[in-house]
Amino acid sequence: MRLLGLKTFRHGVHPPEEKSETRDLPIRQFPFAPVLAIPLSQHLGRPSRPVVRDGEKVTRGQCIAEADGDLSVPMHAPASGRIVRVAPMPSISGRMVDGIFLEPQPGSTQETLEGEPCPLEGSSPEEILRAIQDAGIVGLGGAAFPTHIKLRIPEGGSADALIINGAECEPYLTTDHRVMLEQREDVFTGIRYVLAASGAERAIIAVEANKPDAAAHLREGLPGDLPVSVEVLPVKYPQGAEKMLIGALLGRKVPPGRLPIDVHALCVNVATCAEIGRLLPHGRGIQERVVTVTGPAVRRKGNYRVPIGTPLRFLLEQVGVSDAVSRVFLGGPMMGAAASSLDISITKGTSGVVAFEASEAERTHQRVYPCIRCGYCVDACPMFLNPAQLGVLARNEEFERMAEEHDLLACFECGSCSFVCPSHIPLVQSFRMAKAAVRKARAG
Ligand code: SF4
Ligand code: SF4
Repeated sequence: MRLLGLKTFRHGVHPPEEKSETRDLPIRQFPFAPVLAIPLSQHLGRPSRPVVRDGEKVTRGQCIAEADGDLSVPMHAPASGRIVRVAPMPSISGRMVDGIFLEPQPGSTQETLEGEPCPLEGSSPEEILRAIQDAGIVGLGGAAFPTHIKLRIPEGGSADALIINGAECEPYLTTDHRVMLEQREDVFTGIRYVLAASGAERAIIAVEANKPDAAAHLREGLPGDLPVSVEVLPVKYPQGAEKMLIGALLGRKVPPGRLPIDVHALCVNVATCAEIGRLLPHGRGIQERVVTVTGPAVRRKGNYRVPIGTPLRFLLEQVGVSDAVSRVFLGGPMMGAAASSLDISITKGTSGVVAFEASEAERTHQRVYPCIRCGYCVDACPMFLNPAQLGVLARNEEFERMAEEHDLLACFECGSCSFVCPSHIPLVQSFRMAKAAVRKARAG
């Protein structure tokens, strides 16, 4: 589908962008907290297995937890210092998870231990995928799915197109925007690795039209020997969802329950791609990530390179928040999650921290009214579901019927239906619960 000559998808919404206060702020290094709390479960898949003991001295970049099998990644020390303990810590879900507590040594610097480099020339696809796993790389857009699994082409499958996702349609977030402006060469190097690992013939960098400077900057620097183009997409939420991008850019529909590779496409977040390009030539692991810290309650908004394991409490103290702060989202207000505690940490999947004051938060917690059958949610849903009907079934706890008859599992929790609902019905929250119930019941 084309809108004013630009490729896009049908339905979707236009939440206020709220990016103007951070889009022009260069990435700055964030200081080390007195203690970093590094959860062992920061990715989808099995938690990492600690390989350090209480009291042990570690060097920044050193592997402190190894991957537990194929669907797992290792963790690397974000700072040189001393392991305080390996113990449970709170996670965003509210559950306690195991974590490694690390005390950075006084005067700890950004100097990093380097490992075995993975050269572009001469490395096989398997070697590149192994290097991506060894670097602990997961989807930095928020999904935190291990990237080496995502890029592995299944037996008999093939990829002809690689989409580098720089849409960043989530309100408030400018992480990917700054990465495209400041790490262009890392992005291109990352694309070279991913093309070599996947066998895809070409890459397309997808940028929303509200980042013209990033699109122009990338286009100016396109290497002549790299089969990559830059496509500008209209500003519409959730333009950055994989299925929306693949539909808009390649005209292909990913069937329900299937993956992009089933339509010969791969989709990688642009910050993830930049990390591949930044880390693999040096054999390094992820120790930090770029995070947009913003929202009405934040005093010193910005895009910061934050050590993994930085406690949210320390981060907010450093940037300064108003006394009226009442709600903090990790990852943005549409698809992110409200922080359950300030003792949780910045993880590999944290693309943003957005803090609201009480008045703003109250607006997102307005009184719920009955459905007036306006149909706005139906017009908003990019998956062509019927959120109003699903909402009724969710209220009656008819979860299996939601899945069987109304395609509940196709919902990817974008929140567009909740956003437009004039009755403030918490549709996406009920779908999240219903999906969890269906999966649990089916798992037996
Ligand atoms: S039903 Fe799911 S996919 Fe559709 S708008 Fe609501 S949250 Fe998004
Ligand atoms: S937007 Fe809200 S009120 Fe309107 S049909 Fe959907 S659930 Fe009902």
